[in-house]
Amino acid sequence: MSKYDYDLFVIGAGSGGVRAARMAASYGARVAVAESRHLGGTCVNLGCIPKKLLVYASHYAEDFEDAAGYGWTVPGHGASGNGHAGPSFDWPTLLRNKDKEIERLNGVYERLLKNSGADVRRGHARVVDPHAVEIDGARITAERILVATGSYPWIPDLPGRELAVTSDDLFHFQTMPRRAVIVGGGYIAVELAGILHGLGAKVSLIHRGLHLLRGFDDDIRAFLAAEIQKKGLDLRLGASVESLARQGDALVATLADGTELAADCVLYATGRLPKTKGLGLEEVGVKLDEEGAVVVDDAFQTSVPSIYALGDVISRVQLTPVAIAEAMALVKTLFRGERARVDYAGIPTAVFSQPSVGTVGLSEAQARERHDVAIYLSTFRALKHTLSGREEKTMMKLVVDRATDRVLGVHMVGPDAGEIVQGFAVALKCGATKAQFDATIGVHPTAAEEFVTMR
Ligand code: FAD
Ligand code: NDP
Repeated sequence: MSKYDYDLFVIGAGSGGVRAARMAASYGARVAVAESRHLGGTCVNLGCIPKKLLVYASHYAEDFEDAAGYGWTVPGHGASGNGHAGPSFDWPTLLRNKDKEIERLNGVYERLLKNSGADVRRGHARVVDPHAVEIDGARITAERILVATGSYPWIPDLPGRELAVTSDDLFHFQTMPRRAVIVGGGYIAVELAGILHGLGAKVSLIHRGLHLLRGFDDDIRAFLAAEIQKKGLDLRLGASVESLARQGDALVATLADGTELAADCVLYATGRLPKTKGLGLEEVGVKLDEEGAVVVDDAFQTSVPSIYALGDVISRVQLTPVAIAEAMALVKTLFRGERARVDYAGIPTAVFSQPSVGTVGLSEAQARERHDVAIYLSTFRALKHTLSGREEKTMMKLVVDRATDRVLGVHMVGPDAGEIVQGFAVALKCGATKAQFDATIGVHPTAAEEFVTMR
């Protein structure tokens, strides 16, 4: 009989924590998981899922416009979000329906955890000893503790900072902002700018860099920026907000060049920091880095051997499937005796911007650091837009190692980029060569076939 209450105590029922708890329980471990907010964590409640639902919602504006070229007349006489006569949009209905779906998912997560045999503890947990946590005044012991507390949105210091909001707030706005200033040039800024613009808001996207999406392929970054601007979004690169102030009903963002932008909301998407404050980690000897992320080895073990961490709180790659992969590797290591590790190479990812971005493998610049590369690049108007008349273009790019013929990177801007790149990620994992891409028969007529017909 173990001297501890549990074999594993998980702090945080998000993407990583839920998977670890369920899987460990299914292997027969005695598991508890603590959650201070909503089951499912950021992804389900304030991230991937509500964001993607809002992306779908915002795309209807273009879909209604595109329908005309196909012979459809879309009824509706109210002013649409864009100020044109046409279909109308109701933000409260969208948010209500989104909330209903998230509540359903919260229930699914609760059942999954309970059915796996894990105990769910509601409340804020704090580590008080290498083998004990405190939650709601109760002290619970565990042979191992897993910290999977995620991250929170960070806003830089500036005058009027308290007037700024983040993605967390947007998902609960009572009314949709008609004018929005969004600061940042990463995933969240680009996605939320696309959503609000699509829903009819006047959006200014302010980014300090000269290119969006640091780390992505440079051609993709430039192409996306051009497509976003073509849609009428006010993209300001190399710009920064110096201060925020309230003027009557409006917020005014003053830029470094003196420009004043009036808005209903100023949303900061300037990165997310690991949630480690108030967790008691340093007090028990867990090492954190300068940004507060938990330092772990390749087996997710911290400087205190009985304490582990994974997901956003270790700040390696802040993506849901990565947190889940880390959880599975950890549980196999701890409870199956396997030496499971996460392979961080070739992680596919999508930005649900409009148009969307999908990417896997090395960017051209990354590849050129180590290889002599051949580049295959294609831009074209998707078949759909020959009749819709929309000027939007699609771009696809392959980065190939000349020495081995291996495809090192697959990049795309265009509709369904994430869906398309997922399949090519498998090919890259298998070490596919350009000759093998070429030997693959295309699916016609699709955009994806371009990846196997580029010469
Ligand atoms: P989380 O999911 O954040 O879970 C941590 C949980 O711990 C939370 O529920 C929190 O309440 C709980 N917690 C924290 N402290 C305590 C405590 N002391 N006691 C008890 N409970 C505690 N990723 C993608 O892959 N695709 C996307 O499309 C995508 N879109 C995103 C959009 C937005 C707007 C945001 C913000 C993120 C998005 N992400 C996306 C990132 C993804 O949501 C995260 O990488 C993922 O949720 C991380 O999982 P996690 O388990 O580490 O943490
Ligand atoms: P990102 O790290 O992606 O982007 C942060 C942006 O803020 C960068 O453009 C950065 O500029 C800018 N920035 C940082 N500091 C400042 C500052 N002081 N002033 C002005 N700008 C600043 O973070 P996000 O908040 O967009 O998202 C967090 C993470 O969540 C993402 O990295 C991603 O891992 C995950 N996510 C994934 C999604 C998906 O899979 N589709 C969707 C949403 C989030 P610079 O480039 O110059 O450093």
